[in-house]
Amino acid sequence: MHGNYKVASQVFDIPSSSKQRKLAILIGILIIAVSLVALPFGMTALPATETFLSAAIGWLIFGDMLTAFIIYSQYRASGLPALLVLSCTYLYSGLMTFLHILTFPDLFGGLGEMIGAGGQTAGWLWVFWHSGFSFGILLYAWVNRKWSKPLSSKEKIFNYGTAGITLTLLTVFGVFELTALGDRWLPNIIHEHDYRKLNTSGIGPVLWILSFFALVAVWRRIKGWSMLHLWLAVAMLALLMDVTLTLFAGMRFTLGWYVAKFNSVVASTVVICAVVNEVNRLFIRLSEQHRQLMESGLQLEHANEQLIRLTNLDGLTEIPNRRRFDEILDWEMVSPEERGTALSLLIIDIDCFKAYNDYYGHQGGDHVLKEIAWTIYAEAKQEQGFAARYGGEEFVVVLSGLETQETQEAAERLRQAVASLGIEHKRSKAEPYVTISVGGYRLAPFDPMDAEEFIRRADRCLYRAKEEGRNRSVVEG
Ligand code: GH3
Ligand code: MG
Ligand code: MG
Repeated sequence: MHGNYKVASQVFDIPSSSKQRKLAILIGILIIAVSLVALPFGMTALPATETFLSAAIGWLIFGDMLTAFIIYSQYRASGLPALLVLSCTYLYSGLMTFLHILTFPDLFGGLGEMIGAGGQTAGWLWVFWHSGFSFGILLYAWVNRKWSKPLSSKEKIFNYGTAGITLTLLTVFGVFELTALGDRWLPNIIHEHDYRKLNTSGIGPVLWILSFFALVAVWRRIKGWSMLHLWLAVAMLALLMDVTLTLFAGMRFTLGWYVAKFNSVVASTVVICAVVNEVNRLFIRLSEQHRQLMESGLQLEHANEQLIRLTNLDGLTEIPNRRRFDEILDWEMVSPEERGTALSLLIIDIDCFKAYNDYYGHQGGDHVLKEIAWTIYAEAKQEQGFAARYGGEEFVVVLSGLETQETQEAAERLRQAVASLGIEHKRSKAEPYVTISVGGYRLAPFDPMDAEEFIRRADRCLYRAKEEGRNRSVVEG
C-alpha cells in the first residue's frame, strides 16, 4: 500500500488494501446474512423504543453530514465534479433524514404538524430520501465515468460547489413542501403505521429497483478496487437491504424495521470511516515526508557548508588556498577612500626547496610543506592576520593596522618560527635547517595602490631577500 499514493491523484483512485477488501466483504456478508435471517420474521413486533429511533436517526444525520463535509473538502481540493455530486447526495440524505424525524408521527409532540406535515408526510419523505439518495449515487457514478477532468479554476470550483449546495437545499425544500402540501393528494402509502401499501401502490418496487441499480452502478465503478467505491458499494448494499426490509416488514418497531435501521446506520457510517481512515494515513505519510524533507534539508545545508569549506581550502596543507586569499585581499582592499587602516602583505618562499625534494623525495617535501604551512597559519593567527598557500612552496600572510617596523618584526617572528622547527636540510645552501625568505610590503591608509601592484611590491622584497642570501626578511612600505 506504500507506493499507491504516487499514482492516486484522486480519492476514488486510491486502491483499497487487501485487509480493507476482506473487511468490506465480511461486512457485506454480515449485512446480507442478518437481513435475510430477519426477513421471514420481519413482521414480528418488538418493543417500541422511540429512544432507539432518535439515537439511530441522530447517528444517520451526523454520519451523512460529516461524509458530505469531508467529500466536499475532497471536491474543493481536487475540483472533481463527481465528488461534488457525491457530497450533495450525502447532504440531501442528511437533511431528508432530519425532516423525516421532525415529521415522524408522535415523536416531536406535534412539531411536524406545526411545520405543515400531514399523516403521510414522514412516509413520503422516507420514500424521497431513499430514492433521492439512490438517484444521487447513480448520478455520481455517471459523472464519475463521463467527467473525469477536474474543474479548471478555483473560482469554478467555488461556483459549482455553491450551485450544487443551493440546488440540494432547494430540492430538499421543494420535496418537503411537496410532501407537506401534497399530503392530501399524494397516493396513500401509509395506513396507521403500516407501510405495506408502499408495495401494492408500486412505489416500493420502483424504489427497490432504483436502489438496486445504484448498487450495480457503484459496483461497476470498483475499478482497481477503489477504496471509496468499495465502501460506497457496501453502503449501497446496506441501503438496499434497508429498503428491502422496510418494504417487507410493513410496520415500525417490528424486527424487520429494527434491522432496516441497523442497515441505515451501516450505510451512513462505512464511507465516512473509510475516508477518515484514508485521510489519517495521508496525514501520517505527510508528517513522515515532512520529517524526511527537514532531514535532507539539514544534510544539504551541511554538504553545502562542507563544499564552501573545501573550495576555500588547499588540498595538501588544509590551510586557506589562493582562491580564498584573492577573496580576502579583495575584501580588505575595498576602495582607497574607505581603507582607513594600514595593510601589510608578506610573501613567503621556502629556501632551496627543490634541493630538499631532490634529496628527501617529493613525499618528504610534502610533509615539510604541511608543517611549515601550519606554523605560518598559527603564527598569522596570533598576529590576528590571515594566512594562505599561494602556490607551490609559497605562502602569503595578510596583516592589518601595522607600521612598517611592526611588519618587519612580524616577518621576523615568522621566519624564526619556521627556523626553530629545526627541520633537517642537508646537501644544500640552506644547511643545516629548512628556512624561509620573507618579502613584505606595508600599504599606508588611503594609499590608492591596487592589489596587483601591492603583491608585486611584496614579491620584489622577497626577491631581494633571496638575493641577499635567503633566510631573511625584507620589508618596505
Ligand atoms: P629558492 O630558494 O630560490 O626558492 O629555491 P627553490 O629550490 O625553492 O626554488 P623555487 O622556489 O623555484 O622552488 C620551487 C620548488 O618547490 C619546485 C618544486 O620541486 C617544489 N614544490 C613546489 N610545490 C611543491 C609541492 O606541492 N610538493 C613538493 N614536495 N614540492 C613542491
Ligand atoms: Mg618558489
Ligand atoms: Mg623556494
